[in-house]
Amino acid sequence: MLLVFLGPPGAGKGTQATRLAAKYGVPQVSTGDMLREAVAAGTDVGLRAKSIMDAGQLVDDATLADLVRDRLGQPDATGGAILDGYPRNTAQAAALESLLADTPLEAVDRVLFLDVAEEILVDRLSKRRACPSCNANFHLVFKPPADGTNCDRCGTELVQREDDREAVVRDRLQVYAEITAPLVEHYERIGLLARIDGAGSIDDVWSRVDNVMSMAVSE
Ligand code: ADP
Ligand code: ADP
Ligand code: ZN
Repeated sequence: MLLVFLGPPGAGKGTQATRLAAKYGVPQVSTGDMLREAVAAGTDVGLRAKSIMDAGQLVDDATLADLVRDRLGQPDATGGAILDGYPRNTAQAAALESLLADTPLEAVDRVLFLDVAEEILVDRLSKRRACPSCNANFHLVFKPPADGTNCDRCGTELVQREDDREAVVRDRLQVYAEITAPLVEHYERIGLLARIDGAGSIDDVWSRVDNVMSMAVSE
């Protein structure tokens, strides 16, 4: 089972992908998390990616294809994976199809598009807090950490991502609208798209995601 979460920054892709991954026992593959880990570790990829990510732009397609091919070739992904943040442009969508030949997975089964209005996105992103250690995500209002400042899962102090500051958020939303949004039509045309209303609480959205998946699995 290979699923793709598509949607603007702040739509809830990471939040819903984590739940779905737990339910189906497949790994969540977040290219944003992988790139942030590379930056923190100071690898070649990280050194290349840092300034691009801080500016809210897209890291080059070849780097992403290498990361995703390697990740989907790992033993825990033989039964499938949930892609969160990839593909992000039409070239990456084509690259994904061909790189799957080097993995045990055959093709994308379904693309879950989380549809959320822009004013909601800005509010979700400006109050997002992330764990730099285990990548868990929180929200100061909608999903606050139990003690207010530290990660529920591992206790590390939460941070605001550089690119969640207002000036960069605007650039990321523009990059999404111009470069990533055309993928919605692409996946609709080839019959893989499930459009899901991403407004409402995390639990509301989860029940819609879970419904779409239950129907797909019983088909
Ligand atoms: P994405 O991966 O699409 O950028 P996230 O899953 O990180 O989005 O969610 C962005 C922020 O909004 C996080 O702080 C998260 O806790 C919060 N969030 C996610 N889904 C909802 C929701 N349905 N309602 C309110 N806040 C949400
Ligand atoms: P969000 O879900 O909030 O949009 P991500 O964590 O998915 O953010 O991505 C953060 C940043 O990492 C992006 O702004 C971009 O610079 C880089 N990135 C992540 N995935 C990709 C990708 N598929 N292609 C190019 N850049 C990517
Ligand atoms: Zn943590």
